[in-house]
Amino acid sequence: MTRDVHSQIKELLKSRNAVLLAHNYMRDEVQEIADITGDSLGLSIEASKTGADVIVFCGVHFMAESAAILSPDKTVLLPRSDAGCPMADMVSVEGLKELKARYPGVPVVTYVNSSAEVKACSDICCTSANAIKVVKSLQEDEIIFVPDRNLGRWIAQFLPEKRFIYWEGYCPSHERMTLSEVLQRKAEHPDALFVCHPESTPEVSALADHVCSTSGMYEWCRKSAAKKFIIGTEPGILYKLRLENPDKEFILASEALVCPNMKLTSLDDVLSSLQSMTPVIAVSENVRLKAKMALERMLAVPRD
Ligand code: SF4
Repeated sequence: MTRDVHSQIKELLKSRNAVLLAHNYMRDEVQEIADITGDSLGLSIEASKTGADVIVFCGVHFMAESAAILSPDKTVLLPRSDAGCPMADMVSVEGLKELKARYPGVPVVTYVNSSAEVKACSDICCTSANAIKVVKSLQEDEIIFVPDRNLGRWIAQFLPEKRFIYWEGYCPSHERMTLSEVLQRKAEHPDALFVCHPESTPEVSALADHVCSTSGMYEWCRKSAAKKFIIGTEPGILYKLRLENPDKEFILASEALVCPNMKLTSLDDVLSSLQSMTPVIAVSENVRLKAKMALERMLAVPRD
């Protein structure tokens, strides 16, 4: 049955000239069939470089919007239209405009986990991997950081010369990982290293041997001489970690890290999306151009 769905998806991807993207947090079976797996912005950039006419984005809404921002000539499909991101939904354009009015002239740095409209209201975007470099690249001493307070507070430690005004948003999945759970995992596995995402709470991040993005986690675990890791991010990441490191052991820090939105998309959803060519995610040209500018400013920040 699954093989049948696989072959139908493959045939449709070919006939529609489509590329299938899966975020690192997607279900294993979706990652297994994807043409490209990765983090949200990396996937959108990779897809924009392909000659595909259609992007099928297995992820959540803001990710498909980023793909639409960078690939205006391609049709972007999000197989589950109800796959949203609670953190991205915690900031509204109206609220951000009010905050900007309270701090005139203070640049807005927006994490890519945000809607296209919020990006369009921002000066520059950042990812969890480049946030420190992006903030450092700004001349101003004060910045507004949107929407993830945990990522903002994490990077602020490395930028004592800057004053941060935080939007009090957060990722509910990462916030559910408690300090006591992590301490318990560490006690159960004293020989394991603990690595977590900067969307984790400051107390949890303070316990980590390493704090990094999902892409950073693959690299760090691959290069590390350690054999055992406690993982503090959405469990979808375990699929590729285990595939790439068969000699290493990966333990999830907390079952509460599961993001229900990231688990919505099934292979059947991918198939029906390709059959019906819906739901299409589009961004108005006015918003797209402004949001693209904030993304391009980020991409122009030197990596080293
Ligand atoms: S894991 Fe967190 S940031 Fe990512 S989609 Fe789920 S709620 Fe949003």
